[in-house]
Amino acid sequence: MENRIRQARPHVTRNEDLIFERSSPGKSGVDLPPLDVPSVSSAELLGEQFQRADVEGFPEVSEPEVVRHFTRLSTWNYGVDTGLYPLGSCTMKYNPRINEAVAHLEGLATDHPYTPESLAQGCLKVFHQTARCLAEITGMDAVSLQPAAGAQGELTGILLIRACLADRGNPRKYILVPDSAHGTNPASVTISGYEVRKIKSHARGCVDLAKLDRVMTEEVAGLMLTNPNTLGIFETQIREIANLVHAKGGLVYMDGANMNALVGVARPADFGVDVMHLNLHKTFSTPHGGGGPGSGPVAVRRFLEPYLPTPTVERAANGTYRLDYDRPKSIGRVRAFYGNFGMLVRALAYIVANGPEGLRQTTEDAVLNANYVMSRLKDVYELPYAETCMHECVFSDHRQAARGVRTMDIAKRLIDYGFHPYTTAFPLIVPGALMIEPTESASKAELDAFIEAMRAIAKEIEEDPQFVLQAPHTTRVTRLDEATAARKPILRWKPE
Ligand SMILES: *Cc1c(COP(=O)(O)O)cnc(C)c1O
Repeated sequence: MENRIRQARPHVTRNEDLIFERSSPGKSGVDLPPLDVPSVSSAELLGEQFQRADVEGFPEVSEPEVVRHFTRLSTWNYGVDTGLYPLGSCTMKYNPRINEAVAHLEGLATDHPYTPESLAQGCLKVFHQTARCLAEITGMDAVSLQPAAGAQGELTGILLIRACLADRGNPRKYILVPDSAHGTNPASVTISGYEVRKIKSHARGCVDLAKLDRVMTEEVAGLMLTNPNTLGIFETQIREIANLVHAKGGLVYMDGANMNALVGVARPADFGVDVMHLNLHKTFSTPHGGGGPGSGPVAVRRFLEPYLPTPTVERAANGTYRLDYDRPKSIGRVRAFYGNFGMLVRALAYIVANGPEGLRQTTEDAVLNANYVMSRLKDVYELPYAETCMHECVFSDHRQAARGVRTMDIAKRLIDYGFHPYTTAFPLIVPGALMIEPTESASKAELDAFIEAMRAIAKEIEEDPQFVLQAPHTTRVTRLDEATAARKPILRWKPE
């Protein structure tokens, strides 16, 4: 048994106390010279009302202790700089260092949002150019860079539909959402005041035109579609789908989180999309994870432009840039200031560094990698929708479940092989889903290592399912109680 356990990452310390638990009174990370000016207490400086009596227990540690503590913790984390991160739907691609270098340029990194327009021309140009690049990539006419995440982009986009239809005197009631949609889609629809009408996908995982025809009534404001969908399958009938929705006076929203499958190859405006969002923290390689910051720009066709969030960045005839607040039909602001600027700088750096050819190759490599994984694993894991995939592929744990092993168990065992798990149990239309998105960042050698790991796990399940059920075996902690961790998180250390 022992020789089957592989070490994920060796480390001298098997476990790490909290920094608070390492504290001992009187230790300090700095050694300052004695004060040679009169000392002022914080109460005198701030005023009594800003003094808190309940603050206590700051850790007292030396400089090497604090540096080593956090450096050790950082090496325990698995990130896109560590290796393959095949978390489907999340597009965990490598973040090129050129993006960071550009985002750290002083003029871009330190400009204040209240800098007068005349002194912020460089930053305004970054907004304008990023928006123009995204318009070119999507085929759309106008872009708002304000939304701070994909989900906020969705909400913004649906609010644009609402504003437009209200303006036409026909606000309507429902938005259609396929059953394969990301959970944020029905949430965005509901928050924006529409009701969700779910539509069931057909046996090959796409929208069923006949069903769509039945539910697309004059009460329906539009369709919210992900393309390629969450099965990684391109909706080949997208033109017919869009025509059908448009014929009944509805609008087509595309969740563009899967644009890594399309950039440089197909433009959503060309297949009938009216409004969409992009995830710069997925497709455009800006850092992602741990709760932000993200960026979810919204791209629209011309007739939706008047409703975009205010202010927009405009270029005058003399080549200068300015903010336009005078937009009477705008849905208003969706975020303070103008968006997560640092993310926009990184995305623009990525777009410019790649150029049109590079962006297209990125897409082609991402699709090739996913199909390679799919074709080399489909004899051991069940493939419920056996179409050629786009940027990700979705298996089910059906065969392994017969031996009592589910997708989460396989994912846990994958950690022992040194890989970040794939996405488990999503999309919901595949019971026991294993959703794998390698992205273009993986070399063939790395993909082969991943494939070998997945094949080895399938074999282990045949021979000794119990062993896999107890995985991971090589991590500092094994199975955590994830439900309790999510429902009753302890986020603050408190002295006993
Ligand atoms: C990631 C994702 C979203 C949500 O994006 P966030 O930035 O996490 O809010 C929406 N739809 C799909 C298909 C996604 O993959």
